[in-house]
Amino acid sequence: MKNRSLLGSSINSVKMHNTQAVLLSLLYEGDLSRSELSKRINLSSTTITNLIAELIQAGLVSESNCNEPESEVDRPVGRPRTAICLEPNARFVIGVHVGVGTFRVAVTNLRNEIVLSRMVSFNYQEEPPLSVIDQILDCVEELISESEIDRDLILGLGIGLSGLVDFTSGVNVFAPNLNWRQVPAKKILTDRLGLPVIADNNVRCMALGEAYFGIGRGLDSLAFVYGRIGVGAGFISQGQVFRGSTMGAGEIGHTTMLLRGGEPCRCGKSGCLETLVSETFMLHAADNIIQMNPDGILAHITRENPDWQGMAHIVAAAQKGDTLVREMLAERATYLGVALANMVNLYNPEMIILGGVFTQAGDYFIEPVIQTVRKMTFGDLSKQVRIEKTSFGWKAGVIGAAALALTHLFYLSS
Ligand SMILES: [Zn+2]
Repeated sequence: MKNRSLLGSSINSVKMHNTQAVLLSLLYEGDLSRSELSKRINLSSTTITNLIAELIQAGLVSESNCNEPESEVDRPVGRPRTAICLEPNARFVIGVHVGVGTFRVAVTNLRNEIVLSRMVSFNYQEEPPLSVIDQILDCVEELISESEIDRDLILGLGIGLSGLVDFTSGVNVFAPNLNWRQVPAKKILTDRLGLPVIADNNVRCMALGEAYFGIGRGLDSLAFVYGRIGVGAGFISQGQVFRGSTMGAGEIGHTTMLLRGGEPCRCGKSGCLETLVSETFMLHAADNIIQMNPDGILAHITRENPDWQGMAHIVAAAQKGDTLVREMLAERATYLGVALANMVNLYNPEMIILGGVFTQAGDYFIEPVIQTVRKMTFGDLSKQVRIEKTSFGWKAGVIGAAALALTHLFYLSS
């Protein structure tokens, strides 16, 4: 393993680093003049002028089509201020989020704005992984064709997979909720598409999406915690994805919360966080409430709206004052809060971003999570961590997968 501090830098890598700094500044801050770029990145105006000339030549940034600069204060009299902006549609990527029972595919531009997207459901208990990957490939080809984007402008594809993913080989080593083992997703997609493919765990992708394109933009460290059928976390440290020594960093869903009496988990243990706060187990708890209280608000809402999906009945019942539902949500939220407090003690991120079912569950869930983190975290660490909802709603996974491609194949490519 290479020691980062012992790596030298060639002239080319210095130039590449400076180009990345220019592109990321334009991504984070919008239009900037050459002199503003020079101040922000701490490079001479000559270096900036030369880099911008090359980027204009490549069609990646432009002087035209920029918004009018808002501030006129710094402009010297008689000299027009020319702003530089990213050309968002100069290149594109494809993001693929594989969840439990659904996958989403999106074509996005350099600002990670979705040009076209699609969600497809699959039977995760019966369909073999290679059949799901075939469907993903068909969907990707359809979207490329419908978008009418020149294939040469597509930098590649990022895919966020469930469970343990070997980032280097792109093998989905183990996804307990899908029952996938050793699926060589990256190799199959690369061979069939003829495009570069980057694969990682789907929650790590969400963390990356927030760190570069969402509410965590520009932060040095953050944790994204996602729950649906599975529960996982993705960490960003020093602006990069933290994967741990192998591939397991972030498996917060399988931390043991109950030593005795816990429900069996799909990982083979019992009492895992996932068995308390995943959508599957919260829906089980809701079924119990309906049986205990067949004339209650939840039972009534469920009977009246049989076509509502997932957590919708629970959220509506909590809002309408179902005490048992509110207690159930608060109890489950407390367990998540304890797990997050432990995470803050170990990792001390600047921000925790919640996604999936945790944000869907609403304030009756989120508030006890925040209160528990504030109460259970060591010292003043909890005061420093911000807890936010994802910027991207249910698209967090596909935006994150596209972010994986955009960072590795464009903004941070080497
Ligand atoms: Zn487990």
